[in-house]
Amino acid sequence: MRRLLAVLTLSAGLAGAQAAPPGVLTIRFLDVGQGDAVLITSPEGKSVLYDGGRSEARVRELLTQYQVRSLDLVAASHGDADHITGLVPAVQQFRPKFFLNNGLAPSTQIWKKLVAAASVAGTQGLLAKAQVINLGSVKLTVIPPPPGMKDQNTSSIGLLVQYGSFRALMTGDSETPETGAWLKTLPASLLGPTDVYKSIHHGAKNGDSARWLAAVRPKNVVIGVGPNTYGHPTAEALSLYKKAGAAIYRTDLNGTVTVTVQKGGQFAITTEHGTGVRSAATAPRPAPVPVPAAPATVSYANCAAVRAAGKAPLLRGQPGYAPKLDRDGDGVACE
Ligand SMILES: [Zn+2]
Repeated sequence: MRRLLAVLTLSAGLAGAQAAPPGVLTIRFLDVGQGDAVLITSPEGKSVLYDGGRSEARVRELLTQYQVRSLDLVAASHGDADHITGLVPAVQQFRPKFFLNNGLAPSTQIWKKLVAAASVAGTQGLLAKAQVINLGSVKLTVIPPPPGMKDQNTSSIGLLVQYGSFRALMTGDSETPETGAWLKTLPASLLGPTDVYKSIHHGAKNGDSARWLAAVRPKNVVIGVGPNTYGHPTAEALSLYKKAGAAIYRTDLNGTVTVTVQKGGQFAITTEHGTGVRSAATAPRPAPVPVPAAPATVSYANCAAVRAAGKAPLLRGQPGYAPKLDRDGDGVACE
């Protein structure tokens, strides 16, 4: 593997401090199936996409859905396809100034496509090093891979997001050798406690460890996961999060998980479906919201008397509906 992109210094454009905003920091753990994609938008409307999942079409759809108007920076935690594929349309559409990467160029078509798109967009490569990026009033601390790591997963770039007292941490698919090296070199105050934490490697066995989580001290864990043949998230990982006392959110069960953070650091977590769970080792799928079964065909032919009395026909599923009131079984109780 070789270093493809040169080290570049972040310009004042992205780092320029702005007045304290009235808005909120939004972090969306996007539902991109099996993979990671995290959209971070500052109160000033500056956005970063940290990983893009494995589908170009899906990310295009989500960036439209969440009304992204610009991206200042895209980041690949590492070069695997389930993290970089969606960065291609993001770069093509928004021409971000910077592409933060670990400098290890995989020999894959999708990596070549991403580098070509960045070249066309005029996006500059930014090699991960220990640095702070000011995204408006939000502080992003880049945690570079420790020296000597040989493969993509253990060369994942970490990102600490801080706003007021709020802290979120994400470290790609870093495995135990990488987190072990970080534990030796990083100050404990950088790692925890963590309000929102992205599960390492989609809840794989070789990702999070008890030692690492003891330092991270996560209150909420989000797992970027979709249908897969790897067994992600594993019972081992779920058990670790449970032991850490964290609430667990999963993009396969909860859809996109959105964190909104107020200026002081107070935050709320919302999901597309269901809520996070605390006993995830045996977590069932959230029960579907019951939807009243509407009759396939509705006949109001027999409802004239009901209507004449100023009443509305009751459909199956509505309070007051009873089968005995629906003598012809068409789902309308008015006969
Ligand atoms: Zn991955």
